Amino acid sequence: MNPKPNIIFIMADDHAARAISCYGAGINETPNIDRLAEEGIRLNHCYVTNSICTPSRAAILTGTYNHVNCVFTLQTPINNRMPNVAKHLRTGNYQTAVIGKWHLGEGKEHEPTGFDFWSVLPGQGEYFDPYMIEMGKTIEIPGYATDIISEKSLKWLQKRDTEKPFFLMCLHKAPHREWEPHPKNRGLYQADIAVPETFDDNYKNRARAAKEAKMRIKDDMKYSDLGLVQPEGGSEVGERTRIGSINRKIPNPSDVSNLRLIDKDTAEVFTFQSREELSHFKYQRYLKRYLRTIHSIDESVGKILDYLDDNGLAENTLVIYTSDQGFFLGEHGWYDKRFMYEESFQMPFLARFPAEIPMGSVSENVCCNVDFAPTFLDFAGLSIPNYMQGSSLRPLFRGEVPDDWSNIAYHRYWMHRDPDHNAYSHYGIRNQRYKLIYWYNEGYDLPGTNHGGEDREWELFDCEKDPLELFNCYSQPEYQEVVKKMKIELHEKMMEIGDEPEHL
Ligand code: CA
Repeated sequence: MNPKPNIIFIMADDHAARAISCYGAGINETPNIDRLAEEGIRLNHCYVTNSICTPSRAAILTGTYNHVNCVFTLQTPINNRMPNVAKHLRTGNYQTAVIGKWHLGEGKEHEPTGFDFWSVLPGQGEYFDPYMIEMGKTIEIPGYATDIISEKSLKWLQKRDTEKPFFLMCLHKAPHREWEPHPKNRGLYQADIAVPETFDDNYKNRARAAKEAKMRIKDDMKYSDLGLVQPEGGSEVGERTRIGSINRKIPNPSDVSNLRLIDKDTAEVFTFQSREELSHFKYQRYLKRYLRTIHSIDESVGKILDYLDDNGLAENTLVIYTSDQGFFLGEHGWYDKRFMYEESFQMPFLARFPAEIPMGSVSENVCCNVDFAPTFLDFAGLSIPNYMQGSSLRPLFRGEVPDDWSNIAYHRYWMHRDPDHNAYSHYGIRNQRYKLIYWYNEGYDLPGTNHGGEDREWELFDCEKDPLELFNCYSQPEYQEVVKKMKIELHEKMMEIGDEPEHL
């Protein structure tokens, strides 16, 4: 009998599929991450059930939706007494470790449980010289976070008990805002990055939520996002921005002639002739800094794959690369996530397991991050407990689609109009052709009240005819049958998973 497979789950934070070269957007090169697609499978329709960090991580760890695990927002930490996939794997004789960004809360009630070894960043963590909480003890580690997480992962692999199978979660902080590349990568991407078609979106024919979101590159980016000196005592050249530092938005004035922006590392001064030139500067600087942080992740993935090759582990190790959600890279003029629109809803997902996954496979089936925990247990040959709400992706990996595969992903975002991004609360479903979104516009903190006073709205997108999601066809006569059917599917999905509708 073959020994049980090892599992390495590598997850980045806010890594959009468009910024992985095997997804074909052509804006950067990620040769090491791409190896997983070449030697395994790429999922084109894997989705997050709540497009922000903490809830996504809870869904992955527990195999449940957020109304079940009660991790609704960034402010609701996990109750670590709950069962999770690491606990099941450990009971099944696996050695388990989590290294990197946890972001499910701190202290005895929320720190990692189910892991033989854990070393995690507190909260968002810092890019340089981060603190880490390792088995309950806080330590400061000199260096760059991506390299540190990678080295700690390799060290754990080297020291493990080779008689037992292992489950390693290697969770990168990058490429999370503010995008701080390793100094050696600051010169990468000199040429301009292509601007997405929808960069100048006017948000017509969409729910009000799109227009109201404060996630615009032109208007809402902050000095620290772009590595710029902040005026009026915010920061100086050479000073490091720390999480929690005061941080203001970069202006977008109609007269830009007096605006001087200063690089916080090199003191280079930028001036502008027009508003367009300023927007172009913000977009290019954002994308380049973002892609440079990803360069380090790609190197890290290369080191882990090399380790598996050198130690005869490549054949019997399931390696997964994903991100806790997607991210807007200028589509609709935005950065950030939160929305059920495709760029932030889609998770990149690549998996390699040579014994079972045909090389170069691609799956167009719809799946979700709630499916990850059942997948790990399936590969480990352990039973999937009834409380888990997802389904194992293992058949999809083999190119088989189970008869009862629903091809429906459910999304719900609770943080109605958070002060930073002003994103509206919503829920909805996407199948292989259509996406239905209900903007119920109600605050999580005030159940039963509509503190924003916004009208509720519906959106329907035809993902085949309108992949850029520029036209809400909910009220179009020719789509009324589709609307009816999608509403039934939404209702059935909510019944199945036990989530409560709002004012339907
Ligand atoms: Ca994230």
